Amino acid sequence: MRQPLIAGNWKMNKTATEGQALARAIREGLQTQTVEVVLCPPFTAIPAVHAVLQGSSIRLGAQNVHWEDAGAFTGEISPVMLKEWCQYVIIGHSERRQYFHEDDEMIRRKVLAALRHGLIPILCVGETLAQREAGETGTVVATQTRRALEGLSPEQAAGLVIAYEPVWAIGTGRAATGADAEEVIQRWVRGTLEELFGPEVARRVRVLYGGSVTPENIAEFVCRPTIDGALVGGASLKAETFLGIIHETARAKA
Ligand code: PEP
Repeated sequence: MRQPLIAGNWKMNKTATEGQALARAIREGLQTQTVEVVLCPPFTAIPAVHAVLQGSSIRLGAQNVHWEDAGAFTGEISPVMLKEWCQYVIIGHSERRQYFHEDDEMIRRKVLAALRHGLIPILCVGETLAQREAGETGTVVATQTRRALEGLSPEQAAGLVIAYEPVWAIGTGRAATGADAEEVIQRWVRGTLEELFGPEVARRVRVLYGGSVTPENIAEFVCRPTIDGALVGGASLKAETFLGIIHETARAKA
């Protein structure tokens, strides 16, 4: 049984003070233990949010990590630094691929670095609109998945979380259909995991959908057995909508 997971990616939003208030409201409003909840604030808010979450089941994640443990990498944050605070780290988000030119090799090194220090990667994969329109969705998603996971042992792979996030659905208000997300996840994400690591690993990895998820549309995704939850951007910035997504997930998976 895979535990459902809802992760909130706050992106470059919330000061430490604002983040504390949001985390406190989420903690106070949470009415389920069946869904694992992960908050991913910006680096500067992580210690403050960590303090608010002490003693709760809500987990912390970062939005990025460097692949080296320490050294002359101005502006970067290492997995050694993160593991004092976080259990999870988002790797390969499309905004990092697009604006910061992260490629599959950098993403692979980040995945390995996170695992080396006991952080669980939330690996993001997904096609652009042009790639979808060219009929390349399957190849893009399979290739991104394969390249990010080269060199992992089956045991390491089994602990991963993968988020299928079609780039055209992120922050646009235009979510994929549940049927589309299900097909890509089952065939191209789990299919690639099976090719690389075998059927048991393909069954054990948690796979999320991401892209304009709301309390109104989340059930459309999580009612499907292959979709274990969501990576949520915009709707994770308000306690009410984020809690709505969590509680709808608990209902749909019950
Ligand atoms: C994201 O940033 O990963 C995301 C899915 O954003 P949004 O929910 O705003 O589309």
